[in-house]
Amino acid sequence: MISEKTKVGVIGVGHLGQHHAKHYHFQDGTNLVGVYDTDSNRGEEIAKQYNTKFYNKPSDLMKLCDGISVVTPTESHYNVAKMAIGDFNCHVFIEKPITETIQQANDLIALAKPKNKIIQVGHIERLNPALRVLEQYDLNPKFIEIQRLAPYTVRGTDVPVVLDLMIHDIDILLSLVKSDVKSIHASGVSIITDSVDIANARIRFNNGTVSSITSSRVAKDRVRKIKLFQENLYTTIDLLMEQTEIYSITNDPSLIPGVLKTEPFTQNNTDKHIAYQKPDLEKHDLLGLEIKNFIGSIKGQEKPIVNGVEARNALEVVIKINNMILEDLK
Ligand code: NAD
Repeated sequence: MISEKTKVGVIGVGHLGQHHAKHYHFQDGTNLVGVYDTDSNRGEEIAKQYNTKFYNKPSDLMKLCDGISVVTPTESHYNVAKMAIGDFNCHVFIEKPITETIQQANDLIALAKPKNKIIQVGHIERLNPALRVLEQYDLNPKFIEIQRLAPYTVRGTDVPVVLDLMIHDIDILLSLVKSDVKSIHASGVSIITDSVDIANARIRFNNGTVSSITSSRVAKDRVRKIKLFQENLYTTIDLLMEQTEIYSITNDPSLIPGVLKTEPFTQNNTDKHIAYQKPDLEKHDLLGLEIKNFIGSIKGQEKPIVNGVEARNALEVVIKINNMILEDLK
């Protein structure tokens, strides 16, 4: 019998890859064919947990699949994805960052295009409802401030904080500002590890938008906040709490749906109001949404929320920031 289910496999079932396997296992219309990991004990354990098969060779798994999740350490993303797309005609969902270098990202994009293969990249925050709710607004930001702080853990410290944490916010920033980067100024410091643990970047775009991004992995509490300012609108987005608050300046608050509070004021002899909204947002498991998006994209029913080109563009900015910081520290 020919199965109509989308056949998928997971390469790398460590901390994050186990969750890819879990979501495929529970996703309707999807057949988790198996998993592969260089650590066979770990691979066997996760395969057993999700009632699937452990393969001793990635090629044996890839040849049976329509789509492959690449959830290995970043240094191997390129080789694994290249094999999946190039040798076995698979669509790929690569965890962020897409690859280590721009050249590698370009190679994968060039490989996938003529084969009509999807490259989806796990910039998970883009599925955050606190960010997606802004799709209803006509955004033209003048200033964006982003802060991402995390308590120190060993996980992820093999790369500078810019490549581990700031890349999420660079991807968000590039999705919010529809203009090219004009200039970057960046600085950073090492506090615990031998690489950069705290970084700040000030990015200016050709359309005049300015942004300031701070990322730290030496913090007491987790913080993931965005403040966005534009003419007659100010919003604070809390990615961790999945909440968004919007303040709009308007002559007529009744035209704005879901206003919770208004504050009148007079400007240049005109009566105006600050209208406050805090939309009710449905919470979801964001990785579950990404997996659903990948399966839907393979089936041709939707498009990846973050594709290979967007991930490559975020990587390019991040690499520039990182090089600038390293130069500054010399
Ligand atoms: P991890 O070290 O916990 O797991 C990696 C697994 O891959 C391990 O089980 C390891 O044995 C296996 N492995 C290593 N090389 C392999 C290879 N060549 N082929 C097959 N298996 C291999 O790492 P992790 O925290 O799960 O991170 C994996 C990837 O996910 C990284 O690229 C990381 O940047 C990314 N990540 C993304 C997010 C996010 O928010 N989107 C969060 C955490 C990690």
